[in-house]
Amino acid sequence: MENKNQKILFKTQDNLQLESNTDSSLQNFISGLTKDHVTNSSKYIMSFDKETMEIKLISKDELINGKVDLDEYSHPYFINLEKKFLQAKSENILVNTPPLILSPNKEDKILLFSPHPDDEILGACGLLYKCFSQSVEITVIYMTSGKTAGDASVRQFEATNGIKKLGGSQKNLFFTSFPFYEREDRLVQEDDYDYARELIRKYTPNKLFICADIFDPNRTHKKCFDILLKVTSEKEFENIEIFFYYSVWYWPEEYEYTHILPYDYETYKMKIYAMLEHRSQIETKFMGSDPRPFYQRATARDTSFGKQFNHDYCEIYFKHNS
Ligand SMILES: [Zn+2]
Repeated sequence: MENKNQKILFKTQDNLQLESNTDSSLQNFISGLTKDHVTNSSKYIMSFDKETMEIKLISKDELINGKVDLDEYSHPYFINLEKKFLQAKSENILVNTPPLILSPNKEDKILLFSPHPDDEILGACGLLYKCFSQSVEITVIYMTSGKTAGDASVRQFEATNGIKKLGGSQKNLFFTSFPFYEREDRLVQEDDYDYARELIRKYTPNKLFICADIFDPNRTHKKCFDILLKVTSEKEFENIEIFFYYSVWYWPEEYEYTHILPYDYETYKMKIYAMLEHRSQIETKFMGSDPRPFYQRATARDTSFGKQFNHDYCEIYFKHNS
């Protein structure tokens, strides 16, 4: 929206239309949609096409019934999970077991893969803070430099400062860039799997965390998720406990988490401080359709899950190979 006088026609899949010529009415329009259609329910997945100015609300029913391109808007892993969940529900098999508490211990050797610098804070700050304050061994591997949404060295500097805010240091971090991210077409190839395998062999974790939030506008998260899901399911790694965490592009359904990590107001503040170190990401053009900054989305979700489970705040996790 370079040109403020440009007329923009907003369209949604429900044929909701609105004409606007200012940025602020775009914001109002989107925040209205967000409130009614997305934040309070995860029945819809929203995407905003910057090229066509088209807002798409894709209902989960449409996804499951194959009316939209599954590969583009969901992930086969979660579609299967939902099918199993619905089947168990219809057969009256107990599916609503309360989530377990995730608590790292001194014997743990944790490896956490973050698609971009900042996803680790948005989705797993509580875990990181706990590990740093209890001297549990944890390493964050940044899978891409995040150069699409900013200068790579700036983002590395910001990520390091964010981790320091939580009590960690440089030695807890490994900045890299998977081979696909350096290719023009950004297609995942065999060398990406090889690279992931080598890293896991090198760090020998007993617990491994993968970002399962695949709806970022550039689809980098989905690529990272696919690479790690495939490699960690290999026989060689069968003794590693695999957990998923979620960044800010998705509000998980009840079958998409098995564990919660409750945290207090002190950690809540640290999460915000750490996120604010990611200065280049506060007003980025890669925010998608939700007008709230990333840290607000993350803390709003943690607050909502906290309320649900009678804690101040909660991060949520899914144990993949339980
Ligand atoms: Zn990301």
